[in-house]
Order: sequence, then structure tokens, then C-alpha cells
Amino acid sequence: MADLQIHQFPCLSDNFGVLIHDPAQNLTASIDAPEAKAVAAALKEKGWTLTHILTTHHHADHTGGNLELKSATRCIIIGPRGEASKIPGIDKQVGEGDTFSFGSHQVQVLDTPGHTAGHITYVIPSAKVAFAGDTLFAIGCGRVIEGDMQMMWQSLKKLMALPKDTTVYCGHEYTQSNAKFAVTIEPENDALQKRAKDVDQLRAAGKPTLPTTIGIELETNPFLRPHVPAIQKRLGMEGKPDWQVFGEIRERKNRS
Ligand SMILES: [Zn+2]
Repeated sequence: MADLQIHQFPCLSDNFGVLIHDPAQNLTASIDAPEAKAVAAALKEKGWTLTHILTTHHHADHTGGNLELKSATRCIIIGPRGEASKIPGIDKQVGEGDTFSFGSHQVQVLDTPGHTAGHITYVIPSAKVAFAGDTLFAIGCGRVIEGDMQMMWQSLKKLMALPKDTTVYCGHEYTQSNAKFAVTIEPENDALQKRAKDVDQLRAAGKPTLPTTIGIELETNPFLRPHVPAIQKRLGMEGKPDWQVFGEIRERKNRS
């Protein structure tokens, strides 16, 4: 099986663009399309031709480049069934349990609603990679805008169940602010404290903090750790259901 090549690049103010390329069949997909210009520049730099856009959710900073890129390349736009009417140029609607081929790789679709009502995540098990959009971030998670806390927690649990060595690409570079908040929730987590320092160094050097892995997030992301007794105690929520503790952490981050 030909290796999947992945190219991540910054765009807009704090979004990430990601291109995935299957060399055997010369296919290239843009994971979301925050802006046409930056995606086109990244394609040119790599010498790749766009054949697909895989949309995670409808927000403009993830779909703003769809129509311009489609008219320039005639690429196929795949996106969430649950909010298809809001995805510019969508050709193919997908949802939970759907799979489709991307070259020699199978792409699996997970429904991960909460940030938006129809948000999806793309997983490519053969490459051990997931594209989580604005559901999961490094040391954080997306704002719960269209869903509720219980829904978002169920979505995060699906991602937590992926193999720990799954590499995760996310929609935004929010890690430094996430880390600052996370250490207030679980200051005794040594792995988190170390990671927060590493993040500061990466950002000071102008480097991205993404991608991450499921394993790293399970150890350091407080939004995935509502079951931890020290966190429950700090929040005064001992013995409360995970989704409620998660919801309290999310509310506190909103106010931070
Ligand atoms: Zn969003």
C-alpha cells in the first residue's frame, strides 16, 4: 500500500489547512478549505492537483474556499450529511459508519456532533490518522455551539476509543491558550505541565503544536479526563457523571 502523504500548513489567523496525497493514484484531498488562496499555494508548493475536499463542518473558516477551489479544479466535495445544505458545493454526503476509498486507503466517517449539529470526523485506519476538525483540539476541544454537553462528550468518547497511536489533525492552533487553561484544571498532571512548556517553546519558535495523537491527548487533555478523581475534586463534582464534569470544564474554558 502506498503511503499517504500529509502536508499541514497555517491559514487565516489560526486555522490549519491539511492536504493528503495518495501518490499511487495521484489523488489529493484538502481537509476542509479555510481559504482558496492558501490551499492553492500549498498545492502548488507540493506539486499536487486537488481532487477532493473533505469537509468536517459548515463553519465559514472551514468551507470558505470550497466554491473557488471546486471551480478551479473540479474537485469532488465530500461533507456531512447532517448539515449538507450548509456545505457550499457538496457532491457527496456522508455520516456515521460510511466508508469510501481514497486511492488505496479506506476513509471511515464518524459523526462527532456538538460543535455543530452535523460535524463529522474522517479516520483513515491504514495510515493511523484522524481529521477531527473542531471537535478535538490539542489539550482542548471545540466550543459546544449547536449541540449540548452530553452530545459533545459522546463525540469525544468516539475519538478517545481510537488506537492511541492515531495521529490527529485539528482545525486550529489553540494549544497555547488551551494549555494555560488546562493546568488550572489539573495542575498535578506532570505530563501536562511538561507539555505546556514544550508548547510554549514551539510557539516561541513559530512552530505548530499539531498534529497530536490520541495517546497524548488522553494523558494531558482535561476535556478527556473528567473521570480523574483529582479533577472531580477540584471542581467539587466527586462522583458526578463524566459528561457533567466535562460540561463544567467546557463552561470554565468559555469563561477563561
Ligand atoms: Zn468551527
